Amino acid sequence: MDRFPYRDVRDCVFLMSRIVDVFVSLEASDEPIASVAARTMGIAADQLLDVRVLRRSLDARKGHALGHRLRVEVFLVGEIESSRPGGRPSRQWPSSIPRPRVVIVGSGPAGSWAALRLAEAGVSSTILERGKPVQPRRHDLARVQRGQLDVNSNYCFGEGGAGTYSDGKLYTRTKDRAGVERVLADLVRFGAPGDITVESRPHVGSNRLPKVLTALRGFLEEHGTVYKFSSLFAGIATRDGRVRGVRTTDGDEIPADVVVLACGHSARDVYHWAAGAGVALERKGSAVGVRLEHPQSSIDRIQYGRAAGDPRLPPAFYEMSATGAGRGVYSFCMCPGGFIVPAATEACGLVVNGMSLSRRDSPHANAAMVVTVQAADYGEPALGPLAGVAFQRRIEEAAFAAGGGAFRAPAVRLADFLAGRSSTSLPKVSYHPGVVAGRMDEIFPPFVTDALRAGLEAITRRIRGFLHEDAVLVAAETRTSAPVRIVRDPVSLQSPSLVGLYPAGEGAGYAGGIVSSAIDGERVAQAIVGTVRP
Ligand SMILES: Cc1cc2nc3c(=O)[nH]c(=O)nc-3n(C[C@H](O)[C@H](O)[C@H](O)COP(=O)(O)OP(=O)(O)OC[C@H]3O[C@@H](n4cnc5c(N)ncnc54)[C@H](O)[C@@H]3O)c2cc1C
Repeated sequence: MDRFPYRDVRDCVFLMSRIVDVFVSLEASDEPIASVAARTMGIAADQLLDVRVLRRSLDARKGHALGHRLRVEVFLVGEIESSRPGGRPSRQWPSSIPRPRVVIVGSGPAGSWAALRLAEAGVSSTILERGKPVQPRRHDLARVQRGQLDVNSNYCFGEGGAGTYSDGKLYTRTKDRAGVERVLADLVRFGAPGDITVESRPHVGSNRLPKVLTALRGFLEEHGTVYKFSSLFAGIATRDGRVRGVRTTDGDEIPADVVVLACGHSARDVYHWAAGAGVALERKGSAVGVRLEHPQSSIDRIQYGRAAGDPRLPPAFYEMSATGAGRGVYSFCMCPGGFIVPAATEACGLVVNGMSLSRRDSPHANAAMVVTVQAADYGEPALGPLAGVAFQRRIEEAAFAAGGGAFRAPAVRLADFLAGRSSTSLPKVSYHPGVVAGRMDEIFPPFVTDALRAGLEAITRRIRGFLHEDAVLVAAETRTSAPVRIVRDPVSLQSPSLVGLYPAGEGAGYAGGIVSSAIDGERVAQAIVGTVRP
């Protein structure tokens, strides 16, 4: 079918579009989508001018034919065209008012999207980043895989933030669908594959994300944004209860009317500074647990049954949850065909996380398996809002000690963990620094171990094949979300403690994940453009 050039003239050509849901079975996956859509609509294929896939998800539910469910927009000759999705926020800095001096702490999704939306509104900013640009950061990641950590350049710290060397999974529970569309469109604009706007579980892959971030930096620099790498925030200079500048650990003071604090949930130094400086903070619940790794083939068998191994199928994904000892136990950040990585930021604290390359071709499947922790569980009233940081750190230090140093991680086979014993041997795992047999009850408080065991028992009873002999728990997954919230006014988005301070993203407790953090950065930029009058 000839493609009608509607994409360039969508707002004026007389077309009619309809949204249609279609199912394409695995066997029929070579059939053109237009003919499947036409059949579903009961019309001839040549009546369609074009078909655009809006959403694609794999349907691997038991008792259903295996295939893809697609939501497509079908174009027919008609009267009217639909409008462009997403719609970029259009608020501009008024030309009659001097522009504010903005410093953004952190180049993660929250900081980067704050800078992007500010630049689009005509306001340039300075981004202060403790880590290195993506390329030199790569060498530090190679070193931590050998057990040598740079506390300022690692899986959490550096250009692009914590998600740069992740799977770049872009699905999110946020209800701001227009915001999601805008962020995905930006990622495509800077070089991510176009598919991410249609897949139900889009991911970019850790080998592609750095290129996207480099392109984003190029765009921002062209629009006046200044990056200061290896530059560590030390505090905010104030006058009359307003932001006046940002101090770095080098002794510099960068003048600023506005500071966006987008430092992520691992910036414990920033939490300590904020507590000491009287910035309003509060405790926030989070979740801790382990990375659970299976052979990918076992997850494929569970999810695809007899079709497992079909080269047309992607490595299978799962999401599991249960109640264990009265607490929520759930999987999180599942990485099909991925690796477990050392995501530590402190010399004697072990943290694991997960990532995949875009082709997701490692023989392992891993996911965080975590237990919900309420703010009250942190105890330690004397530590006030920082008790959650101390709680995480205790677990990380116990895991480091149990691994014997050099970021080797304590691990136990799933069957042994459920039986309450240590493993006498461990399977091959994807975690490069290495694993040693360890006991989870020596790392976590009893309420975490008990809930994890009960939750995993319930899941293994429910899902045949999940209790695989080579399934293994690797500790400790502690940085699931911020254990602290940096309080902000719900309307102005500023800290009630300091005029001009805008906490943003995951570290401030307002987002979780790449996309929702980017959306929060965008929201803060909009608030700045709407409210700042220097
Ligand atoms: C290995 C790994 C895999 C992940 N996989 C995914 C995934 O697939 N999908 C997903 O949605 N999420 C994933 N996440 C989580 C995701 O990366 C975060 O939710 C997201 O990056 C949070 O964005 P943010 O901008 O709020 O903070 P961050 O991304 O944490 O960025 C904060 C930035 O601030 C900088 N900073 C901190 N302190 C200072 C200071 N004192 N001075 C100067 N700079 C400072 C840091 O270096 C960092 O670059 C993953 C995380 C990790 C570690």
